[in-house]
Amino acid sequence: MVSIKYCPKCNLNLPSDKFHKNRSTATGLAHWCKECRLIWDREHKTDPRRRLMFQRANIKRRENPLTRSKMVWRTARVHAKVKGADFRLSFERVRDAILNGVCERTGVAFDLGFPKTKSVKNPFAPSVDKIDPHGIYEDGNVQIVCWCYNTGKQQMSTNEYEDFILKAAKYIAETRRHA
Ligand SMILES: [Zn+2]
Repeated sequence: MVSIKYCPKCNLNLPSDKFHKNRSTATGLAHWCKECRLIWDREHKTDPRRRLMFQRANIKRRENPLTRSKMVWRTARVHAKVKGADFRLSFERVRDAILNGVCERTGVAFDLGFPKTKSVKNPFAPSVDKIDPHGIYEDGNVQIVCWCYNTGKQQMSTNEYEDFILKAAKYIAETRRHA
């Protein structure tokens, strides 16, 4: 279906097929038209100095708790959309947890910094975890936890996963060698 969308970059109303698809926006289309995007990419991605500047600015943006909250909330929304599932998680739920600064299940402090190695996600980055993985994203079914808790949990329920953690912690406490 072709509809008309406004591109704020070139100030034109254009048919929707002049925009790339983008799952993370409300309209399902990119904010800028394809033409504007291409020009921007040419300017920013081919020049190494500009690219570096842009990367640094992006890292700074991610470290801002409010901006980061928006990113984390939007990522959850994309996950729901990809699965065709309902999404009822409020932005405030995510924001308040991130501003609070600690993982809701382990108590460790969130780290909004960039991972030390480029390819790996920061293990203490905040992320949205569904308490019951088969439920939907809604305020009552999420906990805002550090990435390493979330990624270890995978498809387990919170209770199953935390039983495992407690068992492991007990074993580690008994067997760990201290240098
Ligand atoms: Zn445009």
